[in-house]
Amino acid sequence: MFTRTLKTSVISLGYRSFSNIKSSGGRLDGKVAIITGGADGVGKESSLLFAKEGAKVLVVDLDANKGNSVVSQIKSNGGNAYFFQADISQAAQVKEMIEVAEKNYGKLDILFNNAGIMISEDDDSINTTEEVWDKTMNVNLKGVFLGCKYGIPALLRNGKGSIINTASFVALMGAATPQIAYTASKGGVLAMTRELAVIHAKQGIRVNALCPGPLRTELLDKFLSTDEKRNRRLVHLPMGRFGYANEVANGALFLASDESSYVTASTFLVDGGLTASYVTAI
Ligand code: NAD
Repeated sequence: MFTRTLKTSVISLGYRSFSNIKSSGGRLDGKVAIITGGADGVGKESSLLFAKEGAKVLVVDLDANKGNSVVSQIKSNGGNAYFFQADISQAAQVKEMIEVAEKNYGKLDILFNNAGIMISEDDDSINTTEEVWDKTMNVNLKGVFLGCKYGIPALLRNGKGSIINTASFVALMGAATPQIAYTASKGGVLAMTRELAVIHAKQGIRVNALCPGPLRTELLDKFLSTDEKRNRRLVHLPMGRFGYANEVANGALFLASDESSYVTASTFLVDGGLTASYVTAI
């Protein structure tokens, strides 16, 4: 008989980070990157990693304390970074974000539209309020649109560039624990990414969607707030564990660097095999 057991040992709560790695230059040497949501989770790990690989990084976030602390960490490792506080759902602030990057660093090569929210009241279509829908769309979908609206002209001025838009595995499969606004917003990011990639392919701008699986970051920890909720989710993960923010940052680094020079319009999964799995072998 097929029985499902959960090995609690795989429910690792540890947080792996690039924070202790010294800056030595490398795969992003000479490039200028903007990373939204750069104060925490995937954005923080990407900021640390991109800087370690030689990029000058504009860390953008609502949270100035955490954002400045990421910048301090980068600088103490010998990297180059600057913090800019912005709400990515506000056009004027996003426009200024691009201007600050160009003014400070002279150009823009990489735009990582990573910031996103998941509101705990997000539910099925019957129970989700318009307020939750609008807020989610404004940050997750409009925020990415605004980043592209103001960022693409800067990349064109630079003559080339890479845009990475963070979507999610939920853009590809339905979740039985509903979060209709979040899912729809990430589906929109995926569709928008493909169209932008096709439109700008001949102009040297690559646009890819990064689709993480479930990660141990604050965003998911708030949503899966109990061990019982987390364990129910773990059953569906082929690797038997959540991902880590730095594992997604590694995917973002590839898409940001010239190593991915023939990669555009891709749905780049960093999901531990989740979207390929129907019944998970225990
Ligand atoms: P996180 O909550 O750890 O970090 C998100 C950061 O974005 C925070 O620092 C927050 O202050 C910032 N932010 C939120 N709203 C903002 C706004 N309006 N303007 C500027 N900054 C804002 O989240 P994370 O887990 O690192 O998620 C990063 C991205 O990955 C998000 O787009 C998320 O939807 C996506 N994602 C996460 C998971 C997961 O399981 N954590 C899975 C798939 C996709």
